Amino acid sequence: MEKNEILMIYGKNYKEMTKEILTSAKLAEQIGDKKKKIGLKPNLVVAKTPDSGATTHMEMIEGTIEYLQENGFKNISITEGSWVGDRTQAAFRVCGYPEVARKYGVKLVDNQQDTYKSYNAKGMQLNVCDFPMSLDFLINMPVLKGHCQTTITCALKNNKGLIPNSEKRKFHTMGLHKPIAHLATVVPNDFILVDNICGDLDFEEGGNPVTMNRIMAFRDPVLCDAYVCETMGYPVSEVAYIGMAEKLGVGCADTSKAKIIELNEGCNAKGKIRMTRRVQELAKYVEPVDACSACYGSLIYALDRLNDMGMLRNCKKKIAIGQGYKGQTGEIGIGHCTCGFEKSCKGCPPKAIDMVEFLKKEL
Ligand code: SF4
Repeated sequence: MEKNEILMIYGKNYKEMTKEILTSAKLAEQIGDKKKKIGLKPNLVVAKTPDSGATTHMEMIEGTIEYLQENGFKNISITEGSWVGDRTQAAFRVCGYPEVARKYGVKLVDNQQDTYKSYNAKGMQLNVCDFPMSLDFLINMPVLKGHCQTTITCALKNNKGLIPNSEKRKFHTMGLHKPIAHLATVVPNDFILVDNICGDLDFEEGGNPVTMNRIMAFRDPVLCDAYVCETMGYPVSEVAYIGMAEKLGVGCADTSKAKIIELNEGCNAKGKIRMTRRVQELAKYVEPVDACSACYGSLIYALDRLNDMGMLRNCKKKIAIGQGYKGQTGEIGIGHCTCGFEKSCKGCPPKAIDMVEFLKKEL
């Protein structure tokens, strides 16, 4: 897999999807020497299960470990430090990590209890935990979700779980963006496997999961977060740490240079969307018929952006979405399936940012 490539896979069998995407990415080749010390860094910000939209799905962890072990890698650990308000051990327990560690014989490392050293991160002195810095290869496994302070959170912000609690507090006093960008210059960012299964609409702690049923792989954490912005309906310029990390040489934020490789079609993941009250409020503008999860979920993100802009206040229109509209006519529709409509947003599935621009004009 090249640095400008983005791999995606849709479906509901998350463990098998994980193994398939890692095989397609040729991760084993990228890692190389079988003796390398490999770390998996999930997002266990709080002690909540993944269906809340806050934490990485265990099926992805299991799929990654199985893939690595089947390819002859033996030195595997899971390394994480929850946010200051929660204990990593509690998050490990709630999400079933001790059982998985036993089942596969992998080590669990709580970074909240680790020692640390100070590093010069391109002009900013930052403390980073010793265990993750001792790894030969780190697989970052963030959840794609919203964040109340930084708008989105994915690869770059997930690195905060590699620093001690005292440093996390300092990050907040520094406004998060700048230290997040500098941190990425020293921590390993070898491979990123994004849990885009049901990340939260706008809150790191979960509560409003948006079903997408998708897993994505990247080699560039800056490209990852830039693409995530567009997936959630935000211009990349709205999330300052992405541009800062790019300027520091961490990666490329220009999504137009990315090569997107879809390993299957969005229609591999259809079905009922979990409706919290907040998602339900946005869904009342939608008329779905047999919609794919990633298409519907992206529309929920787009409607949330329009709602933030006050554009849904007097909206009486309904937006059609889904394979049930193929070959049909109508007024406003989303995606290739509604190409017979008077107004239709192109794509299969379209990105939320394109839906926002389309709906701004047409609603
Ligand atoms: S355009 Fe149609 S087929 Fe494509 S993702 Fe959307 S609903 Fe699915």
